Amino acid sequence: MIQITMPLNFLGTVYREIRQSLIDMAQMFGLLEQPAEVRDREGAKPIAITGGRVEFDDVHFDYAPDRPILKGVSLTVPAGGTTAIVGSSGAGKSTLGRLLFRFYDVTGGAIRIDGQDVRDVTQESLHAQIGVVPQDTVLFNDTILYNIAYGRPEASRAEIEAAARAARIHDFVAGLPEGYETQVGERGLKLSGGEKQRVGIARTLLKDPPILLLDEATSALDSETESAIQEQLRALGRGRTTLVIAHRLSTIADADEIVVLEDGRIVERGGHDRLLERGGRYAMLWYRQKTEAEEAA
Ligand code: ADP
Ligand code: MG
Repeated sequence: MIQITMPLNFLGTVYREIRQSLIDMAQMFGLLEQPAEVRDREGAKPIAITGGRVEFDDVHFDYAPDRPILKGVSLTVPAGGTTAIVGSSGAGKSTLGRLLFRFYDVTGGAIRIDGQDVRDVTQESLHAQIGVVPQDTVLFNDTILYNIAYGRPEASRAEIEAAARAARIHDFVAGLPEGYETQVGERGLKLSGGEKQRVGIARTLLKDPPILLLDEATSALDSETESAIQEQLRALGRGRTTLVIAHRLSTIADADEIVVLEDGRIVERGGHDRLLERGGRYAMLWYRQKTEAEEAA
């Protein structure tokens, strides 16, 4: 926590909301430092969202010139649609999320939201449109109220409680002796992984962004908590453009499109049923996970 917030705190002028997005991103992608400077273009305008269509157009990217990471990735998430990205560790999945958020700039191709190149709009406006639900939500050493309201600091108490209800954390909070005023975090009440994620979901519901970036890794959770959270993530995604980085394939079978990324290239794409029929890479990953789940049971 300290490692993550320290460098971000130096961005004295950015809004809390943006810092939160960056913290969530940092947490989601295991980044501990503010990456290379990405600046607003001169005269950059706020992004204008019409539906939230996300387009990766022949995207190339490397962290170092001698090692390409993304080698021409094209995918479109229609407004309100869901695209899941699966593939081996190191394939470049998280990098796609970082680029959408413009944590880095592409080295070739373009990323557009409703037709606008993310390099042409202000980062402040871009970050305000994207909600990130990381696998492990960061809680501040403050009250539950503050932790949820972080998604939109000007929200009313009624809106905060409504978000908490929708994220199924309200009853738990209301049952605490100090309710929403309960201190959480390192020096307060320790919440379970599932409870923390619900706070993170409530935060994102309150922010109400048209575009969602989810990291579904829920390996630390028991299967009951996991399925409850999956249900909430699904509800959160309804009506929003959603890009899911999926770890457990069972959770993304109903995505509009599943994209299999290997070594920086899309090797397969389509719906779950079609990909299973195809008997390729996705099918292999699917049956492997199924066998592992059965062995664990
Ligand atoms: P995935 O999410 O699919 O596991 P990532 O997008 O996180 O993969 O990483 C893709 C590749 O880029 C990996 O080989 C990883 O080691 C490398 N990589 C990720 N972040 C950085 C970074 N900040 N600097 C250099 N290389 C990185
Ligand atoms: Mg990753």
